[in-house]
Amino acid sequence: MTSEFRSLPSVNAVLSDWRVQKLVDEYSHGAMLELVRAKLHDARGVIACGGEAPGLDDLVADVAGDTASLWRPRPSQVINATGVVLHTNLGRAPLSGEAVEAARLAAAGYADLELDLETGRRGSRQAQVSRLLRQLTGAEAAVAVNNNASALLIGLSAVASGKEVIVSRGEAIEIGGGFRIPDVMRQSGGALVEVGTTNRTYARDFEEAITDDTAAILSAHASNFRVTGFTHSPTIDDLAELGRRRGIPVLHDLGSGCLLDTTQFGLAREPRPQDSVAAGVSLSFFSGDKLLGGPQAGIIIGGRSLVDTVSRHPLARAVRIDKLSLASLAATLAHYLKGEAVEKIPVWRMIAEPRDSLRERASDWAAHLGGGAAVAEGLSTVGGGSLPGETLPTSLLSLRASNAADLASRLRRASPPVIARVKDAAVVLDPRTVLHDQDDALLAVVRGCLAEG
Ligand SMILES: *Cc1c(COP(=O)(O)O)cnc(C)c1O
Repeated sequence: MTSEFRSLPSVNAVLSDWRVQKLVDEYSHGAMLELVRAKLHDARGVIACGGEAPGLDDLVADVAGDTASLWRPRPSQVINATGVVLHTNLGRAPLSGEAVEAARLAAAGYADLELDLETGRRGSRQAQVSRLLRQLTGAEAAVAVNNNASALLIGLSAVASGKEVIVSRGEAIEIGGGFRIPDVMRQSGGALVEVGTTNRTYARDFEEAITDDTAAILSAHASNFRVTGFTHSPTIDDLAELGRRRGIPVLHDLGSGCLLDTTQFGLAREPRPQDSVAAGVSLSFFSGDKLLGGPQAGIIIGGRSLVDTVSRHPLARAVRIDKLSLASLAATLAHYLKGEAVEKIPVWRMIAEPRDSLRERASDWAAHLGGGAAVAEGLSTVGGGSLPGETLPTSLLSLRASNAADLASRLRRASPPVIARVKDAAVVLDPRTVLHDQDDALLAVVRGCLAEG
């Protein structure tokens, strides 16, 4: 063992190797010194447990591998071949070319973020996005914040602090990542009043719970689960009518921000912000990066005076949206205005991609890869807190491998990483969520990983 310790290269030997010197030039002496020391520390641990000392080449390769992964910018691009269109772990919605360009321009220089170019006076960062949202949804007023969780938090804080909010027992839900309606309510200072039962709640349950302390009725869309069987819940129209009759604001957490009719794609009907506005809902909340297909954002639309109350709340500054998101959100919303959402917005293009096109791409991939690759029928999902349980028929590239989990792991660690699914001992890749200009990169990675295996 002593001789193993003795044969371990010194810090200086590793650091002065020409390959490591190139990294010292790129990063810094201090950063590389720390990394080399850590590697030698690990190696001494291995030797102490009876292992062999790594050679200089091994250490250099290890150090180089670590610099590449430790200090690369993250998050960086991966290829989503899972067939889950809105994959929260993969950053939800990819942006349209126009939305990317808008964010790039806003980022690379100065921007008219809070300057009215006409008057030369201070303007609102919300002006453009607010105008577009009003036009698209018919709402009187609109404001964008950091994400939908913060939209709900500020909305409830502004409307319900110190008062009661009536929620159906079936909608006191967890949205994910530990974000629960009852907890948000507590944070906002509002008191949750649950009515009805887990499976059946009626408008009259809400009505009977109204007291002098009632600040609002809240309806939250069950975006990530489905209750089936003996169920009932009042429609948003019923609740809006009740709210109007009793003078109580009705708040609607829509989740996805779906501006298109999803039934045209063979999917269940996802509630739309414009329908909530038409029903007379006081405030609606939704995400920017789910079915809206834009950047992370939370959007609040509704009547002018309530939206103003929300905008003036002290939390508004804490949940403020940044200029990059605003620019790309405005560019995304413009696609809807121009009637080009399905062609331009990636999530809609993916959802709308015809069966023939998917089959052709999967077949092309299989043909390029040869033996071991086949086309199989399968299902894509929308995911990301939208349309739970809904699927879209697709064609998959199926790769047979002696160890499917191992192949999936090699694909994941490739450059660019390819995220696939393992199904019935095969690795399957769904063309639906692979951007068309990523097809060649995907094939190169798959070919490389199959050759390794
Ligand atoms: C996704 C979702 C949220 C949270 O939205 P984020 O934009 O992720 O903060 C809130 N409510 C519902 C119903 C959701 O589906």
